[in-house]
Amino acid sequence: MMVERLHLETTTKEELLVSGTVGNNSLSISNVYLVDGLKHNLLSISQLCDKGFHVMFESSKCIVRNEKHETLFIAYRDKNVYAINFDEMNMQNVSCLSAQSECDAWLWHRRLGHTSMENLSKLTKHDLVKGLPKCTFKKDKECEPCILGKQVKSSFKTKVTSDVTRALELIHMDLFGPTQTQSLGGKSYCFVIVDDFTRYTWVYFLSHKHEVFDVFVKFCALVENEKGYKITIIRSDRGGEFVNRNLEDFCAKQGYTHQLSSPRTPQQNGVVERKNRTLQEMCRTMLNEYNIAKHFWAEAINTACYVINKVNVRKQVKKTFYELWKGRKPNISYFKVFGCTCYVLNDKDQLDKFDPKSKVCTFLGYSMHKDKAYRVFNRSTKTIEESIHVKFDEVDPKVKMMQNLEKLRIDDEDDGTLGQTSNSQEVEACKESDTSAPKNSRLLIGHSSQQ
Ligand SMILES: [Zn+2]
Repeated sequence: MMVERLHLETTTKEELLVSGTVGNNSLSISNVYLVDGLKHNLLSISQLCDKGFHVMFESSKCIVRNEKHETLFIAYRDKNVYAINFDEMNMQNVSCLSAQSECDAWLWHRRLGHTSMENLSKLTKHDLVKGLPKCTFKKDKECEPCILGKQVKSSFKTKVTSDVTRALELIHMDLFGPTQTQSLGGKSYCFVIVDDFTRYTWVYFLSHKHEVFDVFVKFCALVENEKGYKITIIRSDRGGEFVNRNLEDFCAKQGYTHQLSSPRTPQQNGVVERKNRTLQEMCRTMLNEYNIAKHFWAEAINTACYVINKVNVRKQVKKTFYELWKGRKPNISYFKVFGCTCYVLNDKDQLDKFDPKSKVCTFLGYSMHKDKAYRVFNRSTKTIEESIHVKFDEVDPKVKMMQNLEKLRIDDEDDGTLGQTSNSQEVEACKESDTSAPKNSRLLIGHSSQQ
């Protein structure tokens, strides 16, 4: 069925002739309405959403994605109508369609903690991760959260050459804090540990400096168990949390050499200092994007660390920190934009018939215990939960703001005329992807008359 540009006129249920299917071999959508005298088919947004599609409106186009967030088609706006020509779509093949969709380079930049486009290019060019679409990662615009969150590179030149040849040969540690704001769990310090050879990093959140010792002892047992061999050297600054009897006794017993960086040359501790700076910059950027409250800093640092391990690359060997540590490529296909609104299926509580099926949450990162589960902050109970049944609204807050402005503009321009022309075609935004559609625009993609 061909779709032409249209100006939608009043339609009533009686004028609905038939429902059918549109699309091509790779994609078809059933129950599309053909309206008498209209020459066009109506796609229903609520139907698309019910079928698991995500519908996103922008001022110039409407993008429909499948559950994997691959773009299925784009309807371009003509005046106040979003139109799609399925005949044109038939001429495109599947790979062409998905290639177009997968090239959402800026979405991946945001999902991966605002990692640089250079780094993203490197990841695809050398095939270093699983789940990252092949597309052109080019910095063709400025990213506001990046500008606000990242400092100008300081001239902290630390060309640390090390002849370390395996994991656990040299471990760097540092502690930052107290932070101005306590985390949700009441923590004020972050204990950062970096393995020199792989650059794999661990972060722990503490209420007091003296907790460093206990955490360090547990850490050593954990990584030595994982690797099957022992740590050789640990390196730290001369902070009281690292220079004390407990730690020295433990190192002596374990056979570790404890190197202390000279107070005059903090560059000796450069690896972990740089890591600290990267983590904090990423944390600021991530909190900025959706204006997330500062007491989520520990969640942001934790997620930043998780992302860095999986996407940062050791230049010399062209492998991610994760691959160097774990011996296999990381999968990043399930990554989402930190701080975005998400909806978690309400499967635990006894649902009343009219209770909402989803809980509105804020996305905070990835579970450390459950594979591919997400950590979310439930906005009504104010608690952190973990779930695998989550739907995300990753719309760039700036785009959303533009959409709202555009909506206001359209409402203003069309005031008093649009309301009467379409009674049943008023667009219903997809609740699940929470993408806001210009409410009074007349759309080809319209409201379902099936209730
Ligand atoms: Zn950015």
